[in-house]
Amino acid sequence: MKNGVVIVGAGHAGVQAAASLREEGYEGPVVLVGDEKDWPYHKPPLSKTFIKDGEAKPQPLRGDTFFSGHNIDFRPGIRVERIDLSQRRLDIAGGDALPFDRLILATGSRPRPLPLPGADLAGVVSLRSLDDARAIRDLSASASDVVILGGGFIGLEIAATLAAGGRKVTVMEAADRVLGRAIAPVIAGHVHDRLVGGGVRILTGTTVSRLEGDNGRVAAAVTSTGERLPAQLVIIGVGVVPNVELAEAAGIVTGNGIRIDQHMRSSVPEVLAIGDVANYRHWATGGDVRLESVQNATDQAKLAARTILGHADAYAAVPWFWSDIGDMKLQMVGLTGGSDQCVVLGDAAENKFSVYHYANGRLIAIESVNRPGDHMLGRKMLGAGFSPTPDEVAGGPDAMKAALAAFQQSEPAA
Ligand code: FAD
Repeated sequence: MKNGVVIVGAGHAGVQAAASLREEGYEGPVVLVGDEKDWPYHKPPLSKTFIKDGEAKPQPLRGDTFFSGHNIDFRPGIRVERIDLSQRRLDIAGGDALPFDRLILATGSRPRPLPLPGADLAGVVSLRSLDDARAIRDLSASASDVVILGGGFIGLEIAATLAAGGRKVTVMEAADRVLGRAIAPVIAGHVHDRLVGGGVRILTGTTVSRLEGDNGRVAAAVTSTGERLPAQLVIIGVGVVPNVELAEAAGIVTGNGIRIDQHMRSSVPEVLAIGDVANYRHWATGGDVRLESVQNATDQAKLAARTILGHADAYAAVPWFWSDIGDMKLQMVGLTGGSDQCVVLGDAAENKFSVYHYANGRLIAIESVNRPGDHMLGRKMLGAGFSPTPDEVAGGPDAMKAALAAFQQSEPAA
């Protein structure tokens, strides 16, 4: 492969794909192109520690010499504008072209825009990039009132962080509870109550009808019920949309993301897609998913590298995710869709409990608050294809560990 592999997007997925190609022994050219000017960085701290501490530095995904040391041609600050499939070439901003033999699209996602009168006022931001986080940090330094539109993970993480820093924070959520449908109501309720206890005001079942400005800067958010909330900073956190436009324009099949098979290949086999932008049929549930997590970006990147090297293994990673909201470390493993029975372990009053989800009598997911041991054991159990009985779960971690060990002993060696 003379032109080698070109990877578009230098986030969690793209950087891991470049690294994995080398780890797997790929010796051809690897070019990593990203449109951000910053050195590739971890995204999760942006809504947590980074905006809390004025001195916090971004956490690099790899060290200074990683790319040169692994013979990876990293080109930051460059936007790919078009894929020419017939010529196997990318058009990049400024008029240059970049040939490829294999292409990995790791273009991620971007904040979903909220069409709203006043959304273009200064002081109205979303959080995706390091630049966005810098803007939030700067704006929050002089803001006393902050309104957050959307009660998802990122919105609530920011709410907890800014409230702990003394801001008066209001979260507006259109649904009747925070954290959407994917998480157990008992956890959503716990997070809600604890945030309220920490001084965050949460308005569920409420939308914003407009933002009002003063000299071009946001000054207030007006709710659907007519309440006027003062705000010097408004953060829009209503989810993301996948960056599919490059693929779509090239005729690659999309649909809530770039459609890929179990080997990360798109409808054009020499073009692969990974991370937030990839939509695939989940190996366990049979449903189509597009997961937005570091785990998914990392594991898909590793598999894409293996596919390019000719391996035939299919994607079967157990999904997991975490979120830090104030003094709550939330950890999820598995997918909760179809959950028809739950077993709760631990005590919400102590801010430490886990919810074990079953579907048709099988354990499918575990959601934990401040019980990292449950999460790690859950990853082992789901990874091994083991489902403890609800009684074994109720017996606590030791009972589950014993049952897992017995299961593994009884399994014929692979
Ligand atoms: P990204 O990291 O978004 O990278 C895509 C890159 O491609 C971007 O740099 C983009 O600018 C670039 N790009 C797009 N189009 C082009 C183009 N045409 N040319 C060149 N470059 C292009 N996940 C967790 O598991 N736990 C958490 O606690 C957590 N917290 C998060 C907090 C925040 C604030 C955010 C924003 C995300 C968080 N996530 C968390 C989600 C996680 O960060 C994402 O799932 C992950 O970053 C996805 O990686 P990716 O490489 O697919 O996309």
